[in-house]
Amino acid sequence: MSGSCGIIDPDTPPPKISYKNRRAGKGEAYEPTTHEHVANTVSHAIGIGPSILIFYYFMCTYAHRELQHILMVIYGTFTTLLFTSSTVYHFCEYLFRQENKHRKLRYYLHICDRAAIYLFIAASYTPWLTLRHCGLPGLNLKWMIWVFAILGILYQYNFHERYKTLETILYIIIAGGPSVAIFTMNDRTGLEWMMIGGMMYAVGVVFFKLDGILAFAHAIWHIFVLLGASCHTYAVFAFLLGPDRNNPVPDV
Ligand SMILES: [Zn+2]
Repeated sequence: MSGSCGIIDPDTPPPKISYKNRRAGKGEAYEPTTHEHVANTVSHAIGIGPSILIFYYFMCTYAHRELQHILMVIYGTFTTLLFTSSTVYHFCEYLFRQENKHRKLRYYLHICDRAAIYLFIAASYTPWLTLRHCGLPGLNLKWMIWVFAILGILYQYNFHERYKTLETILYIIIAGGPSVAIFTMNDRTGLEWMMIGGMMYAVGVVFFKLDGILAFAHAIWHIFVLLGASCHTYAVFAFLLGPDRNNPVPDV
């Protein structure tokens, strides 16, 4: 133990570093450790720069038609927004949570973090539903997914953290539901990458629910989001951008 003159007793074991806290009780929020706060912040901060650069590059180099260009603006904006809102929220939690400061700011940043996921889901489907022709279940989906996103945000605003399991189920329905329709597309090339990306998110959700059971569970969920987004971005680049059979001539 440290004495009054600052001498450390060599027999005293060093303080144990805690990588996770106890699981949150019903109606409580999980209290991440300092290491978890840092991991949560860094694991999504690393997505911001690449998403800006990649989508800027796609827009300038690979968008072959004006519609592709607009779609890359939408997809790129909401991907960057997802990583940015998550980073800002987790960074504020790191700075202010332990001393319980700026509760209102943290509350609204958390809503923004969650709302950005709904917008990101809609933005991920939009290039596919716009550039490819869907059969009956998918015909109206390109505007319906944005309605779902707005409904999700309204739910988040009104019932934030109140029914956590329902919230997770809602995410799974909104994220997974439209995939049924995209498999009715006339041209299905590249959809295997959409599936792999979807599986990354699905595995990630398991870790999303493991706070307090597994150390760094939330940061692991973030990594799976990065992997899922990377698969989907690659699929857009490889299968949706550039000239196609019906529109071989560039107009941008
Ligand atoms: Zn997060």
